[in-house]
Amino acid sequence: MRSKLVAGNWKMNGNLASNQALLTSLVPLLAPISVTRCVVCVPYPYLAQTEQILRGKGISWGAQDVCQYEHGAYTGGVSAGMVADFGCRYVIVGHSERRALFGDTDEVVAQKFVAVLKAGLTPIFCVGETLAERESGVMEQVIARQLDAVMAKSGAVALEGAVVAYEPVWAIGTGKTASPEQAQAVHALIRGRVAEQDMRVADGLPIIYGGSVKASNAAQLFAMPDIDGGLIGGASLVAEEFAGICKAAG
Ligand code: PEP
Repeated sequence: MRSKLVAGNWKMNGNLASNQALLTSLVPLLAPISVTRCVVCVPYPYLAQTEQILRGKGISWGAQDVCQYEHGAYTGGVSAGMVADFGCRYVIVGHSERRALFGDTDEVVAQKFVAVLKAGLTPIFCVGETLAERESGVMEQVIARQLDAVMAKSGAVALEGAVVAYEPVWAIGTGKTASPEQAQAVHALIRGRVAEQDMRVADGLPIIYGGSVKASNAAQLFAMPDIDGGLIGGASLVAEEFAGICKAAG
């Protein structure tokens, strides 16, 4: 039986004052939720603040990306080991915004995935197709290519320490959610692809859905057999909304 996970992706939002308000509101709202793992992925400069407020409160925190390298002459880079110093347990890798806006290729995403595992953290590894890819009938190939790049680099067994997030690019920040059936179909496909290499890992792999999830549509999505929680963008910036989504996960 896989436990549910709901992760907030704050993206490049927040400041010291608004984070303080959001995090301190989340603590009592999420306290009664003991089964679902609740996570907030915040911008790097606020990891220390997040750690200070959330430590010991039953909510985990993480980063939204890391550099693929461990240390050295990579100006502006932040390594997985550095974010681990701030108590992070999770790191998002391969988010579609990183792929589209910052040039993260499948190979770079695979390198980041390995770097996160090496630092003892859990990658939240994002895959997903654009609308053009879905409409031209290549969605399956795109998802398979993204998954295979990571499995080729680290072996399917490495997914044992990871979470996969299916995020159709056309549903991110658009208000257009994939229907529970549409999402379930792709989640089953992802699990099947991993199962071709390792059935046991595939069975235990948490696959979460992201794309305009709100408190009002979360329960239907999370009721599907292969949807193990959510990766939440916009709605994770509103404490009651994020708490509502975590509650919907059980
Ligand atoms: C995301 O950025 O990962 C995301 C799912 O965003 P939103 O919930 O705003 O669609």
